[in-house]
Amino acid sequence: MNIKHKLQLMLGIEIILIIVHKFNTNHSLTGSDNFIEWHYILALSFGIFIIIYTLRIKCLKCGARQVFRGFSIWDLRMPEDKCYKCGHSLR
Ligand SMILES: [Zn+2]
Repeated sequence: MNIKHKLQLMLGIEIILIIVHKFNTNHSLTGSDNFIEWHYILALSFGIFIIIYTLRIKCLKCGARQVFRGFSIWDLRMPEDKCYKCGHSLR
């Protein structure tokens, strides 16, 4: 499994977690405002994990980040098998 497939799999899991969270929130019990639900923590912490993971996808040769390529959200790209800058293998 390459980096791209791993990332797609993790994003798929995150979407499922968000759906689970939304679904459970609609049926949450009243009077539990201070109680942070497990599905909320799960979706949030997994989301943070994905961000950290994508930030760490770097080229071993030139050090270029493969997902966050710039400072804008529009610079987000799916990582390929090779570095987009120097063509070095990312495996
Ligand atoms: Zn590179």
